[in-house]
Amino acid sequence: MDSSQLVGAGEPVQRDKSKTGLAARPVTSLSPSRAGDFMTCPQLYRYRSIDMLPEPPGREAARGTLVHEVLERLFDLPAQERTAESATALLPDLWQATIERAPELPGLIFGDDDSWKEWLSTQEIPEFTDADVAGFLQECTKYLGRYFELEDPTRLEPAEREQRISVELPSGLVLRGIIDRVDRAPNGAVRVVDYKTGRAPGAGWEAKALFQMRFYGLMLWRLTGEIPARLQLLYLGSKERLAIDPTEQELRATELKIEALWQAIERALAKDDWPAKPSRLCDWCSFKDICPAWAEDSD
Ligand code: SF4
Repeated sequence: MDSSQLVGAGEPVQRDKSKTGLAARPVTSLSPSRAGDFMTCPQLYRYRSIDMLPEPPGREAARGTLVHEVLERLFDLPAQERTAESATALLPDLWQATIERAPELPGLIFGDDDSWKEWLSTQEIPEFTDADVAGFLQECTKYLGRYFELEDPTRLEPAEREQRISVELPSGLVLRGIIDRVDRAPNGAVRVVDYKTGRAPGAGWEAKALFQMRFYGLMLWRLTGEIPARLQLLYLGSKERLAIDPTEQELRATELKIEALWQAIERALAKDDWPAKPSRLCDWCSFKDICPAWAEDSD
């Protein structure tokens, strides 16, 4: 699943501005996406998880959410009916449900930055056209088509879909996440599957994606006592598959890494010190305009 759909870092951290520093409300839980934020850039983590600043919804994220919903619902159908046409036929109703939940979303994802600013100040629903929607659903259809080139869902009976997991480590840290799909083979072997609507990372850039999958693997292991045989990512943006068969040693190393991250977050919280880590990802960061690392650029 897209990182945008995972639960947040847990309970919002309360800041007591009447005192210097922060009120002592420790971070008690961590999800793969929030852990990823901190690794990418502590300042980004702060904006999202401490300050909880609103972010404009993006077209790519909305597309990812809709495609995920279709792929989840697809498995409600009898196996032989799980075709690309059936998946596409699910799109209009799920899109309608999306609009009912968030009527402002279409105008925001089809509009420009001004739509977002306008919405923030007026809360007036931005306008959009039928052609905008048609183009968007067409994009989703294309991504769904790629899914069928990677897998044949008529041969699968998932054990779990959109499985919400929460597990406490011996240290007291709670890990949270939502796993797109869990398959169980006739021999009992477990496979964790995560859909991505982006492109697969290039050679040498897989570490972040694999960390997220090992995070899921660790959660399942700690929850069930069973190490998943395979952790698999399906990239619908580039029609690629990335899979690992995790070992106990790897999952223990992942646990140590998460614990170390947690400690680093606690230290940052105690000092209210969130270093910005500029990178090429800044171009996609919602907070670039207010980020101290880019302050000179905005002068
Ligand atoms: S713009 Fe870059 S450095 Fe600033 S918060 Fe975002 S990711 Fe971090």
